[in-house]
Amino acid sequence: MSRISKIDNVGNLLSIRSTLTNLKPTNMSKEIMKKLEGKVAVITGGSSGIGLATAQRFVSEEGAYVFITGRRQSELDTAVRQIGKNNNNNTVTGVQGDVSNLADLDRLYATVKEQKGHIDILFANAGVGEFAPLGEITEAHFDKTFGINVKGLLFSVQKALPLFQDGRGGSIILNASIASSKGFETSTIYSATKAAVRSFARTWTVDLKQRKIRVNAISPGPIDTPIFSSAIQTEEQIEQIKNSLVASVPMGRMGSPDEVAKAVSFLASDDSSYVTGGHNVV
Ligand code: NAD
Repeated sequence: MSRISKIDNVGNLLSIRSTLTNLKPTNMSKEIMKKLEGKVAVITGGSSGIGLATAQRFVSEEGAYVFITGRRQSELDTAVRQIGKNNNNNTVTGVQGDVSNLADLDRLYATVKEQKGHIDILFANAGVGEFAPLGEITEAHFDKTFGINVKGLLFSVQKALPLFQDGRGGSIILNASIASSKGFETSTIYSATKAAVRSFARTWTVDLKQRKIRVNAISPGPIDTPIFSSAIQTEEQIEQIKNSLVASVPMGRMGSPDEVAKAVSFLASDDSSYVTGGHNVV
């Protein structure tokens, strides 16, 4: 009797193993990981740094269709090729434009409407980081930084709203910065723009709650992207500012763009369905 049941158990085990083999667990777990399958996402400033890493993650890991924007056509084309290369190029559209130019934003959303009809996720990420000590702040520095980081972000969101579907909700993620709540040398204007972005997240959470659109701000610490080269002249100055920023980071290093992308991915997906109005430091 006990001998027979032992044989039965072995038989059962073999049959279970064969069933599991046929289910191809590797493919199954990949399917389960696609948190943004069927979703349409717009990422402003997606041709470099955090925006590009997020677009790559959304497409390759999470299964979304992504529209990216950028000011320079050649960089945008390179980014589109990079994002699409393992995905049959049928997962990404690049739309050239400046977020501080309202006509460019109209063209962006007209393209999204024509190609996909709606938006589920907006990552308002495009931004510039330029720095000047108090006493040397120019009107041009003020206008440019507020024009892109505040006006550009505000209209990127406002003009997208008609494309969020009633009843389906959605997720809007705003890229702020730890500079929004911490004093850094020469950061008067940049920090003020990012404080405005955090304020937008709080107000829009309330404004958009009836439409079930969640709004969250993220505040990255120092992340190794080209943003530093646009702000500072020499390699030596870039190294200096990176070292001084790292000195105040508990992790003792700069973050990578993909480490921010992972947090954005969480906020974009239903994994964060009860998270809104938040300020998420990465
Ligand atoms: P980045 O320079 O690599 O990327 C900025 C992106 O924004 C680029 O694609 C650029 O083309 C785009 N962009 C800039 N101005 C634009 C405009 N007027 N219209 C359209 N696109 C425009 O830098 P990044 O570090 O990836 O920056 C992305 C965002 O992250 C910015 O808002 C930045 O303030 C924020 N941020 C960066 C850090 C960091 O340490 N790198 C830290 C906190 C917050």
